[in-house]
Amino acid sequence: MTAPVIELRDAAKTYPGPPPVAVLAPTSLRVHAGERVAVVGPSGSGKSTLLAILGTLDVPTSGIVLVDGADAAALTERRRAALRARRIGFVFQQFHLLPALTAWENVATGLLYAGVPAAERRRRASDALADVGLAARRHHRPGALSGGEQQRVAIARALVRDPGILFADEPTGSLDSATGSEVVALLAAAADRGTAVVVVTHDEGVAAHFPRRIGLRDGVVTSDPAGPERRVP
Ligand code: ADP
Ligand code: MG
Repeated sequence: MTAPVIELRDAAKTYPGPPPVAVLAPTSLRVHAGERVAVVGPSGSGKSTLLAILGTLDVPTSGIVLVDGADAAALTERRRAALRARRIGFVFQQFHLLPALTAWENVATGLLYAGVPAAERRRRASDALADVGLAARRHHRPGALSGGEQQRVAIARALVRDPGILFADEPTGSLDSATGSEVVALLAAAADRGTAVVVVTHDEGVAAHFPRRIGLRDGVVTSDPAGPERRVP
């Protein structure tokens, strides 16, 4: 078994309040290269919190987050941002594209902080847009694209730097089911190429495409088919 890409050891999150709100109980799990994981639970169960901690966008109040085996908390925020730029991609429900930039320019921004020269950024952005079937729409701004097309641009932006792990928080939440299926297929294709994919969803139909479904309820992992040997170090 390869080393995990991301590992939590008793990572927990409590908002200080008052009163303090415990939104994630101590959680231990590992995600490996190319793994397909869905985090499933009702609204408010802590899915986005768990995802933000796994992706180092947020830090746990206790416990440890390891990225490629290294403690993320030992890094300065600046180095953590550089680590994210190099290793981690994100896709969100509301796409978060820059409205003034074309699809192609939006995708190229995915490489801005990865130290890639401009000519190579343009070439790789073209390739990534072609991979999501949008080569013909590259010069259109987000406002001229459908929701599904905008999410495909966002996926291309996340994948253009070939991240070790991709996090998607309700990526189909703003899409109809047919368009959502296209998005799920693109995420699965990324996993086939070796990127670990972790999707947060409250849609059982989306989750069904992911062999490892982690159930979350009231901030507690209630099920994980990877079993305790993969969760507890
Ligand atoms: P989900 O993504 O499953 O809907 P979240 O992770 O967004 O759940 O939120 C989990 C819980 O944490 C919710 O009860 C929410 O109200 C609470 N929460 C989120 N942010 C804060 C905060 N800054 N302060 C206090 N509670 C928060
Ligand atoms: Mg959420």
